[in-house]
Amino acid sequence: MVHTLPTLDYSFDALEPWIDTATMEIHYSKHHQAYIDNLNKALVDFPAEAEKPIEKLLSNLEAVPEKIRTAVRNHGGGHYNHSLFWKVMTGDTKLRIYEDKNLRIIEEINKVFGDMEKFREQFGAAAMGRFGSGWAWLVADGSGQLSVVSTANQDTPLSEGKKPLLGLDVWEHAYYLKYQNRRKDYVDAWWNVVNWTEVERQYLTLSQPHPPQ
Ligand code: MN
Repeated sequence: MVHTLPTLDYSFDALEPWIDTATMEIHYSKHHQAYIDNLNKALVDFPAEAEKPIEKLLSNLEAVPEKIRTAVRNHGGGHYNHSLFWKVMTGDTKLRIYEDKNLRIIEEINKVFGDMEKFREQFGAAAMGRFGSGWAWLVADGSGQLSVVSTANQDTPLSEGKKPLLGLDVWEHAYYLKYQNRRKDYVDAWWNVVNWTEVERQYLTLSQPHPPQ
C-alpha cells in the first residue's frame, strides 16, 4: 500500500482563532505530507512491511527490518500521530462540547484524574514538560486504564503498547507562526478545538474486538 494524506474534515480556517489558518495549511499540506513521502520512500524496497497498516508497524518496531526501523519510527510515527491529531480537533462547535453529552470517556477521566480541570492540568504539564519537540497524550493501556504521557519527536505511545485517544503536537511548527515562544498559550487555547465526540469514539473502539490482520 502507498500511504496517503488523510482527508481533513474541516477547512484550514475552521480552528480560528485558536489555531491559525496558515499554520493549519502548512502543517497539514507540507509537514504531514513530508512524513508520508519519507515513509513511502523507506518502504519501497520492503514489500512485506509496505503491506502492513502503519499501526501494526509502530506497535512492533522490533519486527521492522533494522535498515528502515528509524525511518518508520520517525516518519511513520509522524504520519500516524498527525492523522490522529487532525481527527481529535474540529471546527464544529457541537462536537467540541461534552457537557451536554453522556460521554464514557469524560466519566472515566473524572474517575481517574479527579475532574476535567485536574486532567487538563496534568496533560498541560506533560505538554509543557516536553523539552524540544514531541507530543502530549491521553492514552489507554491494554486493560483500558487511562493515563497522561508525553513522547519525544514523533515517537508514538503505540510503540509502548498504549493506544492514544487524544494527542497534542508541541513541535514548534505546530504553533510558532501564531504563538512564537508562548507554548503555554497554544496549549491552553487548544482545548477550545478538541473534538470530544471523536475522543469518545477512539475510547469506545478499545472495547471492540480487533479486526483480523
Ligand atoms: Mn506536527
